[in-house]
Amino acid sequence: MSVMAELDNVTKMYGEITALHGVSLEIPKGEVFTLIGPNGSGKTTLLKILACIEKPTKGKVYLNKELVKEGIMAKLRLKTTMVFQKTALFNATVYKNIAYGLKLRGLSNKEANERVRNVLRLVRLEGYGKRPAKKLSGGEQQRVSLARALALGTELLLLDEPTANLDQRSGSIIEAAISQIAQDTNTTIVLATHNLFQVKALSEKVALINNGKLVDVGKTREILDDSKKLADFARVENIFSGISHVTKDGTSIINVGDHMQIEAATRRSGKISVFVRPEDIILSKTKIVSSARNVFEGEIAEILDLGPTVRLRIRAGKQFVVQITKRSFIEMHLNLSSKVFVAFKASSVQTID
Ligand code: ADP
Repeated sequence: MSVMAELDNVTKMYGEITALHGVSLEIPKGEVFTLIGPNGSGKTTLLKILACIEKPTKGKVYLNKELVKEGIMAKLRLKTTMVFQKTALFNATVYKNIAYGLKLRGLSNKEANERVRNVLRLVRLEGYGKRPAKKLSGGEQQRVSLARALALGTELLLLDEPTANLDQRSGSIIEAAISQIAQDTNTTIVLATHNLFQVKALSEKVALINNGKLVDVGKTREILDDSKKLADFARVENIFSGISHVTKDGTSIINVGDHMQIEAATRRSGKISVFVRPEDIILSKTKIVSSARNVFEGEIAEILDLGPTVRLRIRAGKQFVVQITKRSFIEMHLNLSSKVFVAFKASSVQTID
């Protein structure tokens, strides 16, 4: 295995706060590596250290076997690109936002134009070049931000929760673009996420991080097999385990405990673990007739305002985490303890492994 980046016993302090504590990690070249962990666990700090934006307080970092030290950080910074969770686009056109870094690197207008066109296609924003970047929706701005990073073609790409709080369409487009880059190029991608679907769909290896410490690292398949560990691991939401029986319709009914049964579009019997993405769950105040095979009544136990979206924890026998737009939240007059129904399709239930 050839190694793109290595952290050797890295600790990072911000004043009194230990953001990372003795982390040792190898990131293989040309693969997608996910970092999964609760808010404040140190994911962004780890990415910033890999991006040579932050220096470790203790320990060593190697990029391509080269020790990162004062004096060469600026040079190494050019080999990496980090896309932050909060997009910071310039007040200029989409084209200028993407082409700026390319021109700085000495590309001709012709070369820059071609790269901009290619990356805009990748994030499904063809023809958006002349639009003022700041006027786009949040999801579109995040896609421009990713396109800008992709255009640079650096060998290490660091993505900090690139789909957090985005609309579903933009989230899927970003996931598809990451997958395409991973397939078509030799770029090493390190992706911080809360989203188990992305871990499963995109990454070869995954590291679990909590309180600044590395809890586990391994092949995605091996880590996902241990669903109990993931479920215990805060913020990996909507994981359910139980015994599954295949129905005559060709789906499976899973008894997940607490008198709850979940129907999944899979033909698997026996012990199984499944998860549902928060954005795949529909919330309503009354029981609606729909194609969703899973409908449960519950009440709102927690409300987290994330700006354009709101994340709710619903107690319905088991707990569900649901993400809806702020607008729906307001229009539905929801509050703590409001009675609600959660609904999701059997096809939205994904098996782990
Ligand atoms: P995550 O990305 O997993 O949410 P972070 O790496 O952002 O976690 O943060 C890890 C810890 O370090 C948190 O306690 C956070 O408050 C703290 N932290 C991060 N950046 C700074 C900073 N610039 N100054 C002080 N504390 C910080």
